[in-house]
Amino acid sequence: MDSEQLREYGHQMVDFIADYYKTIETFPVLSQVQPGYLHNLLPDSPPDQPETLEQVLDDVKEKILPGVTHWQSPSFFAYYPANSSVAGFLGEMLSAGLNIIGFSWVSSPAATELEMIVLDWFAKLLNLPEQFLSKGNGGGVIQGTASEAILVVLIAARDKVLRRVGKKALEKLVVYSSDQTHSSLLKACQIAGIHLENCRMLKTDSSTNYALRPESLQEAVSGDLEAGLIPFFLCGTVGTTSSTAVDPLAALGEIAKRNEMWFHVDAAYAGSACICPEYRQHIDGVETADSFNMNAHKWLLTNFDCSLLWVKDQYALTEALSTNPEFLKNKVLNLYFDFLKFKSYESFYQLFCFVFFWQASQANLVVDYKDWQIPLGRRFRSLKLWMVLRLYGAEILKNYIRNHIKLAKDFEQLVSQDPNFEVVTPRIFSLVCFRIAPVDNDEKTCNNLNRNLLEALNSSGKLFISHTILSGKFVLRVAIGAPLTEEKHVMEAWKVIQEEASNILASQVN
Ligand code: PLP
Repeated sequence: MDSEQLREYGHQMVDFIADYYKTIETFPVLSQVQPGYLHNLLPDSPPDQPETLEQVLDDVKEKILPGVTHWQSPSFFAYYPANSSVAGFLGEMLSAGLNIIGFSWVSSPAATELEMIVLDWFAKLLNLPEQFLSKGNGGGVIQGTASEAILVVLIAARDKVLRRVGKKALEKLVVYSSDQTHSSLLKACQIAGIHLENCRMLKTDSSTNYALRPESLQEAVSGDLEAGLIPFFLCGTVGTTSSTAVDPLAALGEIAKRNEMWFHVDAAYAGSACICPEYRQHIDGVETADSFNMNAHKWLLTNFDCSLLWVKDQYALTEALSTNPEFLKNKVLNLYFDFLKFKSYESFYQLFCFVFFWQASQANLVVDYKDWQIPLGRRFRSLKLWMVLRLYGAEILKNYIRNHIKLAKDFEQLVSQDPNFEVVTPRIFSLVCFRIAPVDNDEKTCNNLNRNLLEALNSSGKLFISHTILSGKFVLRVAIGAPLTEEKHVMEAWKVIQEEASNILASQVN
């Protein structure tokens, strides 16, 4: 690493990125390229000789950016947001600069300790129960994604129940969630060896705004118990991916507790809103949960990836995921044998020091985050969350969320005032689910109209929205949460949606 080259190139790169943000509104929000476009633009093999940064950045401008969908555009309303910010970016930069691999405490003590501290700070912002803090058996960890968070807790829960009922019972284990739960749960079940026919994705409907009914859960659990199966894992969601449904945590948690099931709460998107006291009610009942996750990289100004997971019992995780291969072992056992052999005061003293200071991992005195996750290696991700929390402070973060929710409220009102449209489910956070309203209950035509509208909007390049299906209805989703989105962008988006809808409706009449 040449420091002076880093300085020079680093300045150029920051200028390039700052210019990108300055001109971001000039790009079509959704990339308009065709599959394979880049193959025609780049050579078949890497260069033999070094090229200049200018040459590379020219290619980024001409060849890469056309194939980029601009998630940071203020007119990006698709999926859920993936926030970037100056603080988040600087934290990423610092993490890349230090480039440590903090798998165990000793591999970079600050990485582990900062992560524990920042996760405790964040738990306090969310007013999570004390059991999730690191001072007892609980604690938080940064995973790459919510999918990884769900996988590790599912594995921890699986091994915990198998220790109780015996390993052979794997095929009897049953997982519960609603049919609105993110697909990452099913993927986790596949990976963890849970039989897919034992995954109960319980049906929801508009009568509960797609939240899981405790009665449905109770009924399913009772049926499974009668059939000799073993209920062991429940996933509740606060802010489902399709429509931000909020499952009733307290009632679900009660059922989980009665049946000795692990209760996980996935608040990947909506968890960010719960730092505001007025939205905290949506995670009421989290005290009944064994684990809770939210993605700071979605809606809290922290660059991807930064998925926060808290557990009440860290040992459930480490018992399932810890390994201690020879190449990571330290000298504590050797010293112990020395001690037995010589029984000298010196050996004893050395053993003491190693156990309590240097070799603390094996003595369980420190957290080794490698045992809380799937990979061994891990990035210094807490730096960016720490920087976000410090450079913005809690009040700015809360107001940031409130602003998006207000914009979504305004958008919802505009939709509900237009007779061509209908709001499909009541808005809770900053996602509005709506569609062109059906005429004469003709759902099939209505679905086609909305499909055409989505296509027309996204190919215009003026905005990007996505869709879902709710009770067979093709529904448009506008998720407001990009850091650069202001009122004018939301108003402009609504204008474009109205215009395109009018064109489509007019062409239908003709
Ligand atoms: N859970 C919910 C509720 C989500 O909305 C999402 C993604 O949008 C996920 C889980 C998966 O998130 P990730 O991409 O971090 O795995």
